[in-house]
Parts: sequence; C-alpha cells; structure tokens
Amino acid sequence: MSARGLLPPSHPIPLQVRSGGWTSLLAAKGHDGRHAEFPFLEGLEHSDPAVARKITRDAVMTTGAAWKSSDAGPNRIRRWVMLLPGHELLERYDIDLDLFREDVRAKLLEKAAPYEDCIRVAQKLTWLAYSMDKAPEPPPELRAYLEDLFGFIEVGTTTCLICRAPLDFTQFSLARRGKAELETAHSAPRAHNPENVGFAHRACNIAQGNKTLDQFYDWIAEILERARPQSSNSTR
Ligand SMILES: [Zn+2]
Repeated sequence: MSARGLLPPSHPIPLQVRSGGWTSLLAAKGHDGRHAEFPFLEGLEHSDPAVARKITRDAVMTTGAAWKSSDAGPNRIRRWVMLLPGHELLERYDIDLDLFREDVRAKLLEKAAPYEDCIRVAQKLTWLAYSMDKAPEPPPELRAYLEDLFGFIEVGTTTCLICRAPLDFTQFSLARRGKAELETAHSAPRAHNPENVGFAHRACNIAQGNKTLDQFYDWIAEILERARPQSSNSTR
C-alpha cells in the first residue's frame, strides 16, 4: 500500500547552510525544480526534530570533512548537484571546480549521488531509526509506508552497521566534544544508496575509514591473528 495521499502534505526542510557564499547553491533557488521533501520524516520532525534534521542532512548533503576552508570550498553540497557537468555547475551555481584543489574536487565528485538515491537513503535511515530500541512509535500511516518499503519495523533490531552491536535511539542525543556518537555509515564508502547505508558508532565509522566493510573485517582479522595468535591464547 502506498502512503501517497495518506501522509500530511510535504514541505521543504531547510538545510543547514554553513558558508554564506554558498547560500545560492544550497537554497531552493537555482534548484532544478525538485525540492528536498521528506513526508516520511513528519513523525520524527515532531517527536525528535534533531534526528529528522540529521537524517535529511546525511541523506542529501556530502559529508562534512576536515578539508573545508574558504579557498577549498564547502564540505557540504547537495549530492546530486555534483552530478552536473562542469559548465552547468559554473553557469547555474557559480561553482568553478577548476578553482578547487584536486583532492577537494575528487572528494566532492566521489560523494555525488542522484536525487532519487538520496531520498531512498533518507527513507532507509528513517526506517532504521524507528527500528532502534527506545525509538518513538511511528504514526500508523507512516509505519505502513516504511514497512511497505523495507519490511516490518521491529524495535531493537537496528545494529551498528560496522560492529553489529545494538543501537538505541537515545544515542542520537549523545555527543562527545561536539561530535555526535551516531553517524551515518556506508558498507562501501563510495556508494550512497539504501542497500549500502546504516547508522554506526562514530568510533566504528572512523575505524572503517575509506575501506569497504569486507576490507575492514579482513584487516581486523589479520591484526587479531598477529596480536592474539592461538598459541598465546592457550598458554594464558
Ligand atoms: Zn559500532
């Protein structure tokens, strides 16, 4: 069953704008007619607005990174904007990629994703959030909509994408030194689609780095083999 028509009318969610010079890029102005609309986030917008904002930002914007600076450009751009050809970026958004350092340009292009994939990522993250222990109860029509997409919402089943430990919803409000404890993570860091995203502990996400999950687990296994060989286990 589709929830189209059952959900409240959608409306654009304002996206965080960090750098004034980039306002025109981030605002709806100049956008190609499709707006960032997330009707499936209406429930969380009321119960936990910070979580709704996080899901929107993580689904739509390129990830924040240490390379942000005035000369290197912004670290958050709508992912689908980066799919446009260079001349269109320049004409429509006043972005001259040639002015950026090569590593910055590469990172921006690496994070590019079509609009539809970003929306589907937001839907998946919403479903995962409602499936956490201590999550708020989704409104019935929203539950039906999300379950139609991803299956039954069973509270307590969302785990860290990386270490597989159960996550609970209250961890969204935890932060250390201004850094959120829960982050959006990717099984393969360069693929931004619902099959490939989930929530993870910040520490786990940092440890995974640019590796795919398979590469990361192999790396850990090799480390454990060296650090804790079977022989030393049996003698202690
Ligand atoms: Zn973890």
